[in-house]
Amino acid sequence: MNLQDITLFRQQNLVAGEWINADNGATIDVDNPSTLSVVGTVPNCGSGETERAIAAAETCFATFRKTTAAHRGALLEKWFDLIMEAQDDLATLMTLEQGKPFAEARGEIAYAASFVKWFAEEGKRVYGETIPSPVQDRRIIVQKQPVGVCAIITPWNFPAAMITRKIAPALAAGCPVVIKPSEFTPFTALALGVLAERAGFPSGAVNILTGDPAGVGGALTGSPAVRKLSFTGSTRVGKLLMEQCAGTMKRLSLELGGNAPFIVFDDADLNLAVEGVMASKFRNGGQTCVCANRIFVQAGVYDAFAEKLAAVVGNMKLGDGFVDGVEIGPMINEAAIAKIRSHLDDATAKGGTVIVGGTQEDTSTRFISPAVVTGVTSDMLVADEETFGPVAPLFKFETEGEALAAANATPYGLAAYFYTNDLTRTFRVSEELETGMIGINVGGFATEVAPFGGIKESGLGREGAHHGIDEYLEVKTLHIGGI
Ligand code: NAD
Repeated sequence: MNLQDITLFRQQNLVAGEWINADNGATIDVDNPSTLSVVGTVPNCGSGETERAIAAAETCFATFRKTTAAHRGALLEKWFDLIMEAQDDLATLMTLEQGKPFAEARGEIAYAASFVKWFAEEGKRVYGETIPSPVQDRRIIVQKQPVGVCAIITPWNFPAAMITRKIAPALAAGCPVVIKPSEFTPFTALALGVLAERAGFPSGAVNILTGDPAGVGGALTGSPAVRKLSFTGSTRVGKLLMEQCAGTMKRLSLELGGNAPFIVFDDADLNLAVEGVMASKFRNGGQTCVCANRIFVQAGVYDAFAEKLAAVVGNMKLGDGFVDGVEIGPMINEAAIAKIRSHLDDATAKGGTVIVGGTQEDTSTRFISPAVVTGVTSDMLVADEETFGPVAPLFKFETEGEALAAANATPYGLAAYFYTNDLTRTFRVSEELETGMIGINVGGFATEVAPFGGIKESGLGREGAHHGIDEYLEVKTLHIGGI
């Protein structure tokens, strides 16, 4: 493995300030989706190790909550510096276990670090309120306090950013965390843990466990000491965890699945719209929650748009993320490939045409060429489910009302995109779209300065911006009398 600092490759878990193996010695293999070789192993921990991590976090909370925001901000600043110094090594681990092109992995590390820097400052701006009292001799003061121990469960598609987006605000607020990263991409998370330890966070503030999702997840959601769960992943697992948290009434932040509409109106700049689809649909091989999943194109520009898009998609370079110029890496696992194939087969069986891509040169690999499908209709699987792969299905529509109705005809509500040069339409359509985020003439909007999150079955709560830290704070009201 080509790392400048090989100590970042950690095959153990961080529990109570110690690097440990699973109690029973069991491990999980982590493979490289490009080569299918084993990158390394991580402990297969269960409820026992998780309970020890929770206990360590609870002990830490007693003192950590009393430290100043400036002190916690300084620890986060130090962590930010260490992450950026190790940007190449962290990106290397990410490309090895997740497959995304190395340049994208470097970009994700910088994006992940931006949350650490942002919340280092934001923690200092956790303001309370004084409220004019309705009673003369009383005063009302509103304080904000850290929620307590937080459980953090994250997916494989953004192995660094999904973690820092949660734990930077948690730590800034004074909350210790117990993290369970995806079993597909644990090494990036564990390396972030090594750097957090070096930055000087106290023992028990950052715990990272890998292992059986149900065992670790059950211990986290069942524990009364855990006061909050922040989860990013599928809507199916999000609903399950929500139910499990009901017994102890935990605070919840849920960043779940999406089914983003991408609407191209006939007054749009088509070149800009193609650029937008490339950014929104094909980044990370189409394995993003805010990915354009359904592309609606107005009839007058449908053929021209399809032709322009197919020309660009047909030129994309597919391969191992370490090879120069590669724009699309492998899919994460066999299940991902099977889902993409089923969506393509279903679309063609129901009358769609794959005008470019969708092929696998070697079906024993996890590489599939990026595809554009025309003639797509609402009875196809691509209309209802996240494909989570590099497939751009093009639906044709006639009127704005028709496009809006189709765009909103989904239980999801994470992201939407539309392209138009009509200002009145910009307002009208944005007000009608049922999503938490909208890109207008823009195909990507990942930034730490703006709130990120969904509505409907895409989740609860927001990450980033000043909203992100509120998720880790309780509001306490003091009514002071006899003044
Ligand atoms: P997933 O739901 O299968 O897994 C997410 C995490 O939950 C993993 O760590 C997994 O080990 C864990 N998990 C699975 N079963 C569990 C259980 N019973 N108890 C506790 N933990 C359990 O999702 P995934 O395949 O890793 O990620 C892809 C999904 O994530 C997509 O639906 C995507 O849209 C969504 N996602 C959403 C956002 C967002 O911000 N809204 C961002 C990235 C990904």
